[in-house]
Formats: sequence, structure tokens, C-alpha cells
Amino acid sequence: MKLIIVIPCYNEELVLRETAKQLAVVLERIQQHKQADECEILFVNDGSKDNTWPIIEELSQQYAFVHGLKLAHNVGHQYALWAGYEWAADKCDAMVSIDADLQHDISTIETMLNKYHEGYEVVYGVRNDRATDGWFKKKTALGFYKLMTMMGVDIIPNHADYRLLSSRAAQALVSYPERNIFIRGMVRTLGFKECEVRFNVLDRFAGESKYTLRKMFNFAIDGITSFSVQPLRLITSLGLLMMVAAVIATIYVLVSYFTDHIVQGWTSILLSIWFIGGLQMMSIGVIGEYIGKIYKETKRRPRYIIEKTV
Ligand code: UDP
Ligand code: MG
Repeated sequence: MKLIIVIPCYNEELVLRETAKQLAVVLERIQQHKQADECEILFVNDGSKDNTWPIIEELSQQYAFVHGLKLAHNVGHQYALWAGYEWAADKCDAMVSIDADLQHDISTIETMLNKYHEGYEVVYGVRNDRATDGWFKKKTALGFYKLMTMMGVDIIPNHADYRLLSSRAAQALVSYPERNIFIRGMVRTLGFKECEVRFNVLDRFAGESKYTLRKMFNFAIDGITSFSVQPLRLITSLGLLMMVAAVIATIYVLVSYFTDHIVQGWTSILLSIWFIGGLQMMSIGVIGEYIGKIYKETKRRPRYIIEKTV
């Protein structure tokens, strides 16, 4: 049985050597325990601006089992991971995707492999806690999972992209033709036998988070709009509510007219104009988000371009 570890890397020069070293130990142990006959590592360089690629080249010379994939420019974590999945899908029996920064406890790979041998084809790594994350990251992440569930997106709380996929599951995944990918949600729709394993989150070995607030925000918006039509339904509900309000308002105006009530000041009229204007603007914005998606899908651009492999 052959295992490939897929690792997207963006400006990770400070951690790569250590990651390879520590993984080598775990992979050695895995082979000793006959959990796998062959293990390899694939580093996907996501258009890094630092020395990440030279280091990957160096590692591929140093270790026979290290491969590198260099994307021509920064396409973001999800697409880099996808590139790795696509590369590995027909080259192994199972693959584990993991972050480069050693935050995901790498010894959990062995637990995942045990599950694989029990017949599970999708094994989710789920965080035990977020002790090492700052207050802000904790709150935003929690809010993210809550919002996703509210919007009807089926994801596993506290599961990032640390997971094992059998080659069959990975091949099914990369056969999805869509361009807006939200891998966490897509894996849930595969339907192969799946389970969860718990792992401890560790401190980032070195360097800082490559997920800026902006990237996280975009990720959340992408997740919702590529998986849910809930926002559109919300508009419909709002529209209905407005209709009810309008009917009540009409009755009020008519009654006022016939009972010779003094017409209320212009403030309320002005306010409602602003209110409706704002509401319409917001609704158009949400609809625009979906049109944007359709626009992107119809272009059918490649998700990434490989420059070279070693
Ligand atoms: N990453 C990537 N492309 C990007 C941003 C991040 O390939 O544009 C990789 C990064 O190198 C790491 C993983 O995605 O291996 C997770 O990123 P990070 O650890 O910075 O995120 P955090 O753990 O803070 O959420
Ligand atoms: Mg990290």
C-alpha cells in the first residue's frame, strides 16, 4: 500500500526543513509497523515569494521520497491543495493532506491509516481544542462554522483540511468540474465510508499565519456562495415581509385619508425611501455574488498551472 502526504506551502521557508525531518520519522515508523509499504511526500509550492521552492528542490535531493510541484503563481490554499490531490490521485492508494507548519499533529497520520485499513476511505482530522489560537482566530473560526451551518452548508465543525482520502475518493473529488472549490464541503458530498479522528493543535513551528483576515473572509464568502442558495431565499423572505408591511401601510394611509387625519411628517417617508433603497442595494449585491460565480464558471479557466515537477 502506498501513501502520499500532500502539503501546500506558501512562503514556508522557515518550517519546510523541520517538517520534512519530522515527517520522515513518522513515515519511517509507519513503514516499520507495516501500515504502508511505501510513503512519499508532495510539497506543492503555491507561488511563494521566498526560498520555499529552492528548499523543496534541496529536500527532493536529500530524501528520495520527497516530490515537489511548483505552481506558477499564488492561487490560494484550496487550489494548491487541489493541485496536490490531482497529482497524487492515481499515484497512490491513500493520501493525507496536511499544513506545512506542523500545527496538525503529524502522529495522527498513523491513527488515520488505521482507520483506512479498517475500510474507511475518508478520514477527517478534527481539532480537539483551539488552545494555541488567539482570541480573535478562535472567535472568527467559531463564527464561521456557525454561519456555515445556518446557511445550510454541510461541514464538520473544527475540521480543517487535515484528512485522509483513499485514491478512489480523491479521484472522485478531482472529477468535480466546478471552478469555485470549497474542498471541506465537497468531500462531504463524496459519500464514501467516512469517520473522524481527533488531533491536538500545536503551535505554528515558525513563521506566521498565511491566512490573512482578508483571505479568511473570502474563504467564508466562497464557502457559502458555492454551496448554498440560502442568501437568495433570504431575499425572497425579506421581500415577502416588505409586502406585508406595504399592505399595512396602505391600510393606514387609506384610513388616515378618510378620517381626515393629519398626514405625518416627511421624516417617515424619507426614512422608508432610504430603507427600501438600502434593502434593494443589499439584495442586488447578494444576487451579484451569484452572477459573479456563474461568470467565473463559464470561463472554465484552469485552476492552476504547473511550472515544473521534481
Ligand atoms: N497556504 C497556501 N497558499 C496560501 C495560503 C496558505 O498554500 O495562499 C498554505 C500554508 O503554507 C499552510 C496552509 O496553507 O501550509 C495553512 O496556512 P496557515 O498555517 O498559514 O493558516 P492557519 O493555520 O493560520 O489557518
Ligand atoms: Mg497554520
